[in-house]
Amino acid sequence: MSEPEEIDLNKPNAARVYDYYLGGDHNFAVDRAMGDDAIRMWPELPLIMQANRAFLRRAVHYCVDQGIRQFLDLGSGIPTVGNVHEVAQLAAPDSRVVYVDTDPVAVAYSRTLLEGNDQASIVRADVRDPEAVLNSPEVAEQLDLDEPVALMMVALLHFVDDEANPREVITRYRDALAPGSYLAISHATDEGRPDLADEHADLYRKRTSTPMTMRSRARINEFFEGFELVEPGLVYMPQWRPVSPSEIDDNPERFTALVGVGRKL
Ligand code: SAM
Repeated sequence: MSEPEEIDLNKPNAARVYDYYLGGDHNFAVDRAMGDDAIRMWPELPLIMQANRAFLRRAVHYCVDQGIRQFLDLGSGIPTVGNVHEVAQLAAPDSRVVYVDTDPVAVAYSRTLLEGNDQASIVRADVRDPEAVLNSPEVAEQLDLDEPVALMMVALLHFVDDEANPREVITRYRDALAPGSYLAISHATDEGRPDLADEHADLYRKRTSTPMTMRSRARINEFFEGFELVEPGLVYMPQWRPVSPSEIDDNPERFTALVGVGRKL
């Protein structure tokens, strides 16, 4: 397909740099150059992104096992292997998914991927505007908000700065969800590798329009207010319900992102 409009080819973009780390091909030279600079600084970055994607997969499976059949995936990114609807619909074919992203490349490729799937849609919206997301025609068509939903905020909230008040944003989503809904978060923290965290965040600040805000465990924990964290709580990515030996790591702090799944009370 042709590239979507409104793309600044001179500036790297978080969604496309992430796609590059994951080995995808929906990225441009400017994204690859930034990804390579970041990898030179921090060679484990692709491994970290893969572990993030593996957490996403395990969290979806967990929610399906709890009986969840509706997913609202915020900051869903450029489709790559193991998208939420693929994982969920393989495990439970009646699962319905709404993806949300602001990035035109992510939205255009998602739209193409979802053609012919009447149980999954993509909304182009800014997640910092919960009403725009929750009142979108796609949410109305796919999701019944009177029934539990899994709200996925995976590798998203570190792109929402404190000025946007992420706690308040999450509260507005939470209040729209039925009890028994789930919230899955993965969030970059400055606690695992404080030596590299600043330098890495600096790259996003200087070169992209989506600077990163690394947060402490305590701050990330606050995002689960009104949700009860399921076992094993808020942990480094490989520690959250690993299913295969390859997902376990002796040094989980090096993955520098904390993850958790909470159930709405
Ligand atoms: N959730 C996917 C995953 O974990 O594999 C993709 C994560 S990717 C690192 C972060 C995504 O969040 C990007 O696609 C970016 O465009 C999107 N994003 C960042 N800020 C956003 C905002 N305010 N509203 C909607 N999407 C946003």
